[in-house]
Amino acid sequence: MTKETVLKIKQKQADKYHKGYPLISASAVADSRPLQKEGQIIKLTDERGKFIGRGYYGNQNKGLGWVLTQKEDVFIDQKFFDQAIQTALNYRKKLFKDPETTAFRVFNGEGDGAGGLTIDYFDGYYLINWYSEGVYSFRSFVLHSLEQLVDYKAIYEKKRFGKQGQYIDDDEFVAGERGDFPIIVKENDVQFAVYLNEGAMVGVFLDQREVRKRIRDYYSEGKRVLNTFSYTGAFSLFSALGGASHTTSVDLANRSYAKTIENFSLNGIDYEAHDIIVEDVFKYYKYANRKQLSFDLVILDPPSFARAKKTTFRAEKDYTELLKQTISITEWNGTIIASTNCSKFNMKKFKSFVDRAFKESGHQYTILEEFSLPHDFRTISSFPEGNYLKVIFIRKSS
Ligand code: SAH
Repeated sequence: MTKETVLKIKQKQADKYHKGYPLISASAVADSRPLQKEGQIIKLTDERGKFIGRGYYGNQNKGLGWVLTQKEDVFIDQKFFDQAIQTALNYRKKLFKDPETTAFRVFNGEGDGAGGLTIDYFDGYYLINWYSEGVYSFRSFVLHSLEQLVDYKAIYEKKRFGKQGQYIDDDEFVAGERGDFPIIVKENDVQFAVYLNEGAMVGVFLDQREVRKRIRDYYSEGKRVLNTFSYTGAFSLFSALGGASHTTSVDLANRSYAKTIENFSLNGIDYEAHDIIVEDVFKYYKYANRKQLSFDLVILDPPSFARAKKTTFRAEKDYTELLKQTISITEWNGTIIASTNCSKFNMKKFKSFVDRAFKESGHQYTILEEFSLPHDFRTISSFPEGNYLKVIFIRKSS
């Protein structure tokens, strides 16, 4: 057998890694010179030479790679991926059998044992996301596993490892029969149009499934709803189906208009009875304040980072201000649903933004409920950062 590259973790951080921390952070590596080529298999030890795990070198903005196993007799080969993917499929058994939901995550990176790789399911179509050139070097293992383990209409892939970790546009068809897009998937009996070969985003963010259902079933009846950063209108659609008297969707991107109409129409909702506005949310807020508009339910789901013509939004810096502006157009006793996928802060910090925004606005609030990632977005306790989604339902109480 060829000699494995050994990478040493600083003794000070070794404990954390021995306990299962999966991300190889640049700051934890004692000497990164052994890392020569992405995809290289590495054996991690502490500085005393004690075995930590086996993983790979793959540059992501998060770190230098991932530990894939803590067992010294496990190697990163076909068998490794067969087992990891089989276990992941078993874990989603209930979802595969659910006739009301045909889109969900089947493999969630480090949560399922292989950081840097995710696989989503869309009604018979599988979409693989590769987050580094390193993990991409295991492509033939992953494809072989999928081909052995599942029946599929087609497999698509997205490469998310451009120089700044961004998405690389390409023809993304891999195997099977090319899809006729949009394909229509269901989520709790609601239909979404999905495009697997048209840019970084496919039309729906699967991690918000429980939040959407909750909004439809408990928060929408008779309400005037504002959905900001609305993308394809998923939250507006669930509100409308839950009996909202009116919804307003606001997104900067031109595509959001047609895509929101498409999703409304698919579900028998008259889109003309709703507002779909293509505009910068911050500009819309100025307008809404000037016109003294107010809403019963406001949904905030901004990206972690976004640059518009005049504004740059950074969740960790600007969320409080976004909330303050939202509070001023929310009815007394109305609800704000604040969501973020920013992994730079945790739930506690996110709540501190909420608290500051209400204090500075001179209003009282109650937190009604909280959500994080659903079951299919599996996470592990040794990597809390992996549980990135934070959603808070807040009542403006006075
Ligand atoms: N809430 C959506 C997902 C949002 S994705 C859902 O549940 O499906 C982020 C969206 O924010 C993108 O569609 C992007 O066009 C939009 N966006 C980013 N900056 C914006 C801004 N300043 N004003 C309005 N929309 C913005």
